[in-house]
Amino acid sequence: MWRAVASLGLLIGAGSAAVAADYRGPLFDAHLHYNNEACTHDTPAPGCPHPMADVLDRMQRNGVRAVVANSRPNDGTKALASAREQTRKAGVAVVPFVRLYRDRADYNNWFRDPTIVDMVNAELKQGTPAGPYRGLGEFHLYDSANANGPVARQLMALAEEKDLAILAHVDDAAIDLLMANTPSKGQKSLLIWAHTGIGGTPAPRVDELFARYPRLMGELSYRPGLTCTDGQLCPEWRALLLKYPDRFLIGSDTWINQRWQHYDELMKGYRTWLGGLPANVARRIAWDNGAKLFGVATPKP
Ligand SMILES: [Zn+2]
Repeated sequence: MWRAVASLGLLIGAGSAAVAADYRGPLFDAHLHYNNEACTHDTPAPGCPHPMADVLDRMQRNGVRAVVANSRPNDGTKALASAREQTRKAGVAVVPFVRLYRDRADYNNWFRDPTIVDMVNAELKQGTPAGPYRGLGEFHLYDSANANGPVARQLMALAEEKDLAILAHVDDAAIDLLMANTPSKGQKSLLIWAHTGIGGTPAPRVDELFARYPRLMGELSYRPGLTCTDGQLCPEWRALLLKYPDRFLIGSDTWINQRWQHYDELMKGYRTWLGGLPANVARRIAWDNGAKLFGVATPKP
């Protein structure tokens, strides 16, 4: 009996990533929304499910030490960026992005609406108490051809000129089109690909795009086919993350309140598969890549 138990222990000990301990270091949430329906007020109130104290508590208890913040409209981002004392206490660095959406109607029209450019320029000029805006987005293109809309072209060029990151929820065809609309043809553009192809862009195609565009980053929320058994990475995605350890980021995508409700599980899910990677790779995807992009100091444990 004892021998059987001992050899079973050996088997497990020498076994696969499935039994690896969760990643325990800091997390950089590179895709966070603080939208108006979360209720971005300072104080709890009826019909206000996720006030500032609540969202900061969720970040803090999950070891999230920095966030890319954007929101519809931009008020939520500004609320987070203005809460200097509270975010400092929670140990969360806020990296603000300008969202292109004032309301839901803008999702399907921003790429051809010149008033969006005016709004972006006004926000950039104003900046935030947490520092200047560092990126534009998240934006969506449900039809990749709209990557060639006049405003999409203008904003891609502006982002490269001002070295702003782009956070884009698009398909692989739109990545090529958006990159073609920059002065460097995508060689200098910092583009964070939200979900790394939410429609399930095949891993070899992601690989091809990463090889073509040196500053294309893949954010992994909602990515189909990412994890397999026991919450660990599927083989082809594990291989891709190991091939490009400096190019991936994790994110919550709190686009609806339900994502805030599941914030703990989302972060736990990341910690599980990160724990199955070599420690230095896990650390880069969890924290270092985002921290390096935006110059966020590494927190003391
Ligand atoms: Zn999103």
